[in-house]
Amino acid sequence: MLRPGDQDYDRSRQVWNAMFDRRPAMIVRCRTVQDVVGAVRDAREQGLEVSVRCGGHSAAGFGVTDGGLMIDLTPMGAASVDPARRRARVQGGALLGALDEAAQRHGLATTAGNVSHTGVGGLTLGGGMGWLARRYGLACDNVVSYQLVTADGDVRTVSADEHPELFWGLRGGGGNFGIVTEFEFALHDTGTEALVVECTFTGDRRREAMRRWRDEHLTAPRQATFTAATAPGTLTLGYVWTGPDTGYRPTFTNGGVERRMPMSYLQLQRRDDTDGRHALRRYGRSHYLKSMPDAAVDAFIAAGEHCGAGLQGYGGAIADVAEDATAFGHRDTMFEFGAGSSWTDPADDDARRDGARAAAALLEPFAGGVYVNSLGEEGAAGVRRAYPPAKLARLTALKDRYDPSNVFHLNQNITPTGD
Ligand code: FAD
Repeated sequence: MLRPGDQDYDRSRQVWNAMFDRRPAMIVRCRTVQDVVGAVRDAREQGLEVSVRCGGHSAAGFGVTDGGLMIDLTPMGAASVDPARRRARVQGGALLGALDEAAQRHGLATTAGNVSHTGVGGLTLGGGMGWLARRYGLACDNVVSYQLVTADGDVRTVSADEHPELFWGLRGGGGNFGIVTEFEFALHDTGTEALVVECTFTGDRRREAMRRWRDEHLTAPRQATFTAATAPGTLTLGYVWTGPDTGYRPTFTNGGVERRMPMSYLQLQRRDDTDGRHALRRYGRSHYLKSMPDAAVDAFIAAGEHCGAGLQGYGGAIADVAEDATAFGHRDTMFEFGAGSSWTDPADDDARRDGARAAAALLEPFAGGVYVNSLGEEGAAGVRRAYPPAKLARLTALKDRYDPSNVFHLNQNITPTGD
C-alpha cells in the first residue's frame, strides 16, 4: 500500500499519457487474487473511487484515480506457457512482452498489440488488435477463460461453459464487469519470422498507389496486415507479414521507394516501443472505416497535412467471428484510422489537439464506429460509437447484474440503468 509521500508513490501513479497527473489517496500494489479482493472490498467500505491499472496505456488515463483507491496490478505480471496444450496463463497485470516472450520460446504466439509495454489487461478486454489478428482473430477471441474478481469481491472462473453471458461481455466490453486476475489464452504455431514492407510515395503518385493498396487489401493473404501512414507531402504504404515468406508480392509498391525489413516476430512486437513510449503528452482520434471510397483515399492523404495519421487493415479471422458472438463491436471494419500526436510542452496542447481533430474530421464522413480501446475522453457519445445499440443494451443488462452500483466506472463506461 502506498500513500502520498511514500517512496514509489509518484512513480506508481504515472501513466502512459502525461496529460494525466492524478493523485490517488492510496495505491494498492496487488500480488495475489486475495490482494485484489481485499482492495475492492476496502474501497467499497471506505467509499473510495476505484481505478484499475495494468499497462497504464489508456489514452484517457483511466488507470489512475484522483483521490480514490488505485488497484495496481503490475506486480502480477507473469506469463507461463504449456507448449503441449498450446495454452498460456497470463496474470492480470502482465505486459504484452511477457506473453510474447513466453510463447515465442516454443515458436508459439497469440494475437497481441504492437507495443510490448502495453497491458494484456486493457488491450484484451477491449478486443485486442495485432499483427496476428487476421489469422487468428482478436486477442479476446483467443481467451479460453478468465479469473475475475467482481464488484462484490467474489472470485469467478468465466468461460464458454461457466457464466457464458459474462464470457460474452468480457470479450470486448472492457473493464466494466470486474478485475481479471488471470487470462488463459489459446496459442498458435506461428513460427518466429516476420517481415515489414514499407513503400514511400510523394506528390501525384500517392493517390493512384493508395487506390491499388486499398484494392489489394481485399484479396491479401491473412498473413499480411496492410498499413498506411500519411505526413505532409509523403505517403507510406506497406504491410506487416507474419510467418515464413511465401513469395507474396503485391503490385501497389510499383513506382515507390520500397524497403523490405525481415525480422523476428519478437523484434516486430517491439518495433514501436520507442515511438509509443511513456511520459509524453498525447492526443489522438480514431474511426473505423467499413469501406474506403476514392474520396476517403483523398481525405486520408489530406489528413497528413494536419497531423500524422495511419491505417491498419482488418478482415480475415476478425470478420469470421459472428458480430453477436462477442461484445466487441464492428467486426466488419475494413481499416482502422487513427490520427495522433505526442509532445512535451503543455503550451502546445491546444495546437496539437486541434491538429488531430482536424485530421480526424476529414475522415468523419466515412466513419462507421470506433475501436473502444482507441477512445479518449469522449464519454457516453464515444461508447455509443464503439458499440451498436443492441450490443450496448446487452452490455447494460450485464452491468446491471454484475456491477449495478458502477464500482468499475473509470473506463469506457457501460452505465448501469439508473446510475
Ligand atoms: P491501463 O490504462 O492500465 O488500463 C486501461 C483500462 O483497462 C483500465 O482503466 C481498466 O478499466 C481496464 N483494465 C486493465 N487491466 C485490467 C484487468 N486486469 N482487469 C480489469 N480491467 C482491466 N490496442 C490494440 O488493440 N492493439 C494495439 O496494437 C495497440 N497498440 C497500442 C500502443 C500504444 C503505445 C498505446 C498507448 C495503446 C495501444 N493500444 C492498442 C490501445 C490499448 O489497447 C489500450 O490503450 C488499452 O486500454 C491498454 O491497456 P493497459 O492495460 O495498458 O492500460
